Amino acid sequence: MKSKPMESKKGSRRVRLVQFAGRTGGRDYQGRSWVYMLLSGQTRGLSLGVNLSPSGVCDYRCPYCDTPKATALDLVPVDVPGLASELEATLEFIASGQVLRQPGYSRFPPELLSLRQVMLSGEGEPTLCPNFVDVVETLVHARSRGRYPFFKLVLETNGSGLERPEVQQALELFIERDEVWVKLDAGTDQQFQFMSGVDLPFSGVLSRILELGRRRPVVIQSLFARVNGSPPTGCEIDAYLGRLSQLQEQGAVIQRVQIHSVMNSIASSRCSHLPLASLSEIARLVRRKVGVEAEVF
Ligand code: SF4
Repeated sequence: MKSKPMESKKGSRRVRLVQFAGRTGGRDYQGRSWVYMLLSGQTRGLSLGVNLSPSGVCDYRCPYCDTPKATALDLVPVDVPGLASELEATLEFIASGQVLRQPGYSRFPPELLSLRQVMLSGEGEPTLCPNFVDVVETLVHARSRGRYPFFKLVLETNGSGLERPEVQQALELFIERDEVWVKLDAGTDQQFQFMSGVDLPFSGVLSRILELGRRRPVVIQSLFARVNGSPPTGCEIDAYLGRLSQLQEQGAVIQRVQIHSVMNSIASSRCSHLPLASLSEIARLVRRKVGVEAEVF
């Protein structure tokens, strides 16, 4: 799953973090293997990410994804002691204010450079990580020691691995303020199969979101794009809104919906950026017809 880098205005200059050297899709590893920093549009501030899938293993093939995809055979367990050490060093880097003097970051206002969250994310699908529970335990342990200001945990997932016992076990460690962001880019089987790039049943995804949403609030993350030059049709948007309503009626709690589009930098001939006005209209419909908070980033 991919978070979107943020732009900032200082004076009249717009600064795009993704342009900085050593970054992957806006992610700043600074020589680390597992932990990166990201100024994220979703959180309007600084996030730390934990890359649970360095080889880019994902069971989806979204047509807009810019990460080369590996197969399940390339699954690599996270080096948990290495991750813990990188996490500690990066938390210290932020808490001590060193980040404020870092080239590139110094042009952002300090209030954007306090830590908002630690994300379980990566170049591929994080819930496929073979030692997912160990990683979550490490993050929870780092937080519970209280050496740094509180940070919430966010799992950003396509939802395919939510049923795995080890993922369920790990989610038991999440507290109320932690969040799970699940991808839902479609309202119909056909749309789902195009947007995910795989021939999996849409009903399976919906039932996993439902199960999760009955246990804890879920954040829905939805990408809309022009497909072969055409925006989503009214029928497709209605079907999407209908799925959200249905999930709620069946007992899922949807905390909010995040609406976004393909970045221009990775647009392809099949999927390209949908203008802000269209995204805002979809968000308005979510608020009005589903009754859930919706934001565009
Ligand atoms: S779910 Fe889609 S966007 Fe996310 S990593 Fe997999 S292929 Fe890329």
